[in-house]
Order: sequence, then structure tokens, then C-alpha cells
Amino acid sequence: MITNHMPTEELQALDAAHHMHPFTDANGLAKKGARIITQGKGVWLTDSRGEKIIDGMAGLWCVNIGYGRPELAEVAARQMNELAYYNTFFQTSHVPAIALAAKLAELAPGDLNHVFFAGSGSEANDTNIRLVRRYWQVKDMPEKRVIIARTNGYHGSTMGGGSLGGMSPIHAHGGKIDGIVHIGQPDWWSEGGDMTPEEFGLMRARELEEKILELGVDKVAAFIGEPIQGAGGVIIPPSTYWPEIQRIVDKYGILLIADEVITGFGRTGNWFGSQTFGIRPHIMTIAKGLSSGYQPIGGSIISDEVFNVVAEGGELYHGYTYSGHPVAAAVALENLRIIEEEGIIDHVRNVAHPYLKERWDALTDHPLVGEAKLVGLMGSIALTPNKATRAKFASEAGTVGFRCRERCFANNLIMRHVGDRMIIAPPLVIKPEEIDILITRARKSLDECYAGLKE
Ligand code: PLP
Repeated sequence: MITNHMPTEELQALDAAHHMHPFTDANGLAKKGARIITQGKGVWLTDSRGEKIIDGMAGLWCVNIGYGRPELAEVAARQMNELAYYNTFFQTSHVPAIALAAKLAELAPGDLNHVFFAGSGSEANDTNIRLVRRYWQVKDMPEKRVIIARTNGYHGSTMGGGSLGGMSPIHAHGGKIDGIVHIGQPDWWSEGGDMTPEEFGLMRARELEEKILELGVDKVAAFIGEPIQGAGGVIIPPSTYWPEIQRIVDKYGILLIADEVITGFGRTGNWFGSQTFGIRPHIMTIAKGLSSGYQPIGGSIISDEVFNVVAEGGELYHGYTYSGHPVAAAVALENLRIIEEEGIIDHVRNVAHPYLKERWDALTDHPLVGEAKLVGLMGSIALTPNKATRAKFASEAGTVGFRCRERCFANNLIMRHVGDRMIIAPPLVIKPEEIDILITRARKSLDECYAGLKE
């Protein structure tokens, strides 16, 4: 039997032989071996060699309440014993799905009162493609089907989600569905040239208006964006960006989808990133922090207007076996109870964020760090050989970030790199003393990476 007690090398060999990883070159993995994670508690992970690792990424931006909360395990066991599975496809429902949908309608801003559940963020975004196209069909405007998204956005790995995302390797590996076009991203550091961040934010938002006019408003169904692009490198948009996007969406009457898969459930210091940036979406995509990753669950929270129109059109002809899965829904509900009752969002806003922000901003005194940005508990630093010109590493683009990430990993800190940006999104329950450890290890890793560069 394969267990945690087997020697690490044996586990690594079996992993490399049989388990395909999405973002690790299989040959490299066979040589180096994966790090085998065996336990989690709070912001800490333990690996098979007994090393304690501080998780600066909350897994994949999802373990908002931290690892190892027994309440969620208890709720899951209770729900499995009571009703392990039933679907909500036809004329049936169950209490966990009803209670979770009602809770989400209470928490979500504006008239976002209806929830369609999925198993993940990718599936939820596929639902959104169908929902917005169906909305215009029912309104007798079936030619309004183009969705405008952004370069370097990320909306998942299904064909729909991957097509909405603006990452060319994903499009290259298997193609892209039709009717999705991309405009530029609000990444001032990399692309802002001589403009101020505010000018650049306006310029990038106005690309939406230009695209709508170029395609014809009678062809455009919706715009989708993450309030803060996460997987693209934690691109925190200039303050002018979202208000201008909102103005344009309102002016042309197209639907707005806020992909809150990362920014939802406290990450930015509010329940949703839309509240932090003053966005009024018709649909919100949710996943990850919805259950703090304890169960796979996602969904779309839909406005009264979109729901009523789509419902008028009759059957949706869209559903997943695990939509509203009772165990996942019960666990998500318990997770939301913990976030609410333990004041975790207040902790982000009043404790974790100012404490981390001061120390995060101070990283700009490091010779490698040009820019440090943080909203709530989601941040990035841009690595550069020249802070004044915001230059990129000419011959080594992306590899400096990779090397810094490797140093972090060796120093038992999980940070991610996107090109030459280093990013963090720790569990929202991180304490000040853990923030100190995170920053100390990040500095040490940056120093080591910098020393390696000069060699
Ligand atoms: N949307 C955003 C903004 C994401 O960051 C992700 C995943 O990282 C997804 C969608 C896809 O979610 P999932 O991996 O649950 O399919």
C-alpha cells in the first residue's frame, strides 16, 4: 500500500511514473522529484521529509481560512452520512444547495440573487459563456455573442475558460473557441511606457469602447475581467481603470462578468473584489475561497435581470453532475460561517493588510525589486535590472522570477512567479508573526537570487 510512511524517493518515483502534472515538465519532474506535501495547519504545510513550509499562496489562492479546520471535516462526514449525493437537475433540490445559494445571494452585492453551481471556476466560466449568449438569444438578439476579455487574463483551463483567458500558450495548446476577443491588460509596470498609471488605466479601459465600436455593439454580448488579474501576475489595475470600464459597459448596455474566483471571499478586504473596486457586475464567477479549497465547488452568481430573461427562455440545457453537490455545498456553507463569525475579512482589512503592506512595500529597497503592490492579501513584486526605466532582464526574461521562486522553495516559503513578477496570496488568517517569517524568507531568497545573478 502507498502511504505517507513510504520513503520520499519511492513516492517521487511513483508520482513521476503515473501522475501527470499540469505545469511541471514531466521529464524534469522525473529527474528532480516532486515535493510531497503530507499535512497542513493554518498557514503551514509539512512535507514528507518533515520540513515546515509557510504557504504564501494559500495552495492555489484558495485556502482562505487556512488548513486543518476540523469543523469542515465534521460537516463533510455528517453530510456524507445523511445524503452523500443527489442532483438538482430536474424537479429536486436539497438543503445544502438551497442554504448555500441563499447565503451567497445575501452576501453578493446588488441584485445578484441567483446561483448556478459548478464544480470549479473553469466550469463556472463555461456556464457564463452559455448564460450571456442565451440572454441575448432570448431577447431576440442572437447575433450578440462576442465576449471581450483581456490579454493575460485567466479564466480557467476548459476550452471555454481557456479561450476567455488571454494566455497564448493555452490557446496554442489545443485552440480557442470562436466569438472571444481580447483587449490589452491594465499592467502599467510592464506596458505603461511614459504614461502615468492613471492615464494608462484610462487608455486600457477605452480599448473596450474601441473594440465594441469596431465589432459593432449589436455583436457584443459581454465583457469579462478579474477585478485583479491573479494568474497573470497580480496585476492591480490603476484607480481609473474599473470606473471607466463600468462607464463603457453601462453606456453600451453589454453584460459585465466579474471573475471573482481569486478575489472573492475576503481576499481583497471585502467579501468580493467588485466591492473593493466599485464594480457592478451582472454575473460573478466564484470558486476557490467559496469552500477554502476543502471541497471542489464553484458557481455563477447571476443578477435578477439576467436570471429572469434566461428563465423566460425555458430550459437552460446546461448542468454538471456535481452542480450544487451536497457535501461540497455543506462544506462551503461552513466555510462562509467561519469567515463571517471569526471576522476574517476584518482581520484582512485591519490586521494582516496594513502589517504586511508596510513590510511588502519596504521590499522595494531590495536591489532587484522595482515595484511592490498589494491589495488585501494579494500582492506582487516586479523584479527589474533598472528601477528607473522599469526595464526587463534582457536575455533572461522570466528566468529571474523562476530562480527567485526556486530559492523561496528551498527556504521553505511558497511564492509563485509569473515571468519576472513574484506573487503572494497567503491564507487570510495569517498572523503578524507569520508575516514576519514570510518576509524574512522572501528577503533571504531575493538576496540569494541576486547574488546568483552577479556570478
Ligand atoms: N478564474 C480565475 C480568475 C482563476 O484564477 C481560476 C483559477 O486559478 C479560474 C477561473 C479557474 O478555476 P478552476 O481552477 O477552479 O477551474
